Amino acid sequence: MPPGVLLVTGGSRGIGAATARAAAAAGWSVALTFQDDARAAAEVVGDIVAAGGQAMAARADVSVEDDVLDAFADAETTLGPVTGLVANAGIVGQRARVDELTAERVQRVLAVNVLGAILCCREAVRRMSTRHGGPGGPIVLVSSAASRLGSPGEYVDYAASKGAVDTLGVGLAREVAAEGVRVNVVRPGIIDTDIHASGGQPDRVDRLGPAVPMGRAGTAEEVAAAVVWLLGEDAGYCTGSLLDVAGGR
Ligand code: NAP
Repeated sequence: MPPGVLLVTGGSRGIGAATARAAAAAGWSVALTFQDDARAAAEVVGDIVAAGGQAMAARADVSVEDDVLDAFADAETTLGPVTGLVANAGIVGQRARVDELTAERVQRVLAVNVLGAILCCREAVRRMSTRHGGPGGPIVLVSSAASRLGSPGEYVDYAASKGAVDTLGVGLAREVAAEGVRVNVVRPGIIDTDIHASGGQPDRVDRLGPAVPMGRAGTAEEVAAAVVWLLGEDAGYCTGSLLDVAGGR
């Protein structure tokens, strides 16, 4: 049986885009969401379709409930029932200590990284859980090694949001384990994407990569490979797992 329809949030760039491409290569039909960068989203969709796969893109801010509902509805209308979720969309703020944080910034980080992941999980479980008449299916949450390192002097609020994502993964996994839904968490380390520049540190990968035990930053494709493995039947007995993809960091 083909894997089905996978919704990947933040699938226009970075880890999400690599995941969308890798999942499509593994047979998933992919509905990816983006927030602003329609051109990047269209490029990922174009690559997947050119390679013989099925894909679509939907604009959605995952922190806005109606956007999440619309994204799932669009995916269903275009590709069919959603049977897998990668909750990947996430943001960091500018480098700052806790004693410099504003409430607005923390609220935004928590809204996108935590509320967004929970809303997407809710919609996925409503469709996939056998309790709701669904066929079951996998969920992968993209957290961060920051959840165990804490990101002191950089963005403790972001690290705390990823701690919440880890806990969401463990709790939801146990909640729906007997309902055909597997929930796992991938925790990337320092990965070469645009996120560092968007947090005001375009040199972060070059600066911190060599200090990783493996001596380098990771690639989005290396994270995507772990996500796609967790989505697949080879990971059929994994749920509630936290998989570090962090070069030993
Ligand atoms: P990225 O290159 O900055 O890409 C972020 C993606 O998320 C883009 O597709 C962006 O859409 C989308 N996005 C941003 N805000 C959104 C929102 N409010 N609603 C919906 N989509 C939104 O980031 P990345 O490095 O691939 O990170 C992906 C995930 O991995 C994040 O959860 C991040 O915390 C986690 N992570 C990354 C690293 C790393 O070193 N890169 C390490 C650990 C964890 P647009 O293209 O439209 O802007």
